Amino acid sequence: MALRNIRYEGDEILRKKSREIAQVDERTRILMDDMVETMYANEGIGLAAPQVGILRRVIVIDLGDGKVYKMVNPKITQKSGEETAPEGCLSVPETRGTVPRPMNITVEYLNENNEKVELEAEGLLARCICHEIDHLDGILFVDRVVEDVEEG
Ligand SMILES: [Zn+2]
Repeated sequence: MALRNIRYEGDEILRKKSREIAQVDERTRILMDDMVETMYANEGIGLAAPQVGILRRVIVIDLGDGKVYKMVNPKITQKSGEETAPEGCLSVPETRGTVPRPMNITVEYLNENNEKVELEAEGLLARCICHEIDHLDGILFVDRVVEDVEEG
């Protein structure tokens, strides 16, 4: 595995739309492993491929509960409820803001074995998935902030 360089707000790659992956192969698995390692090294709980300069629809998440999610082409198929809570982002250092997100979502994606998975998520996991999928569409959490929590 290898660490990849994090891209920061102001880098135009973070504003581009990522492309789907047709088939999850070894190259995709290496990317996901590198992303997980980079996420841990930077003490994040989620990372999207554009944040390491790759415009592909790949995200990884680990909330610290022992589960590592690696999602290819993630798509939210259902959502309900709303909760507003603080967020941060490895690409927007030292900035936090409160963002409204759905309380519950259903997400479909391909896992590392190219198998289709459907997952129901709530609370922080749902929030994190929404945040990372936003990255795949060139959206940063600061675009959705309703109230600044703290800066600096
Ligand atoms: Zn982020």
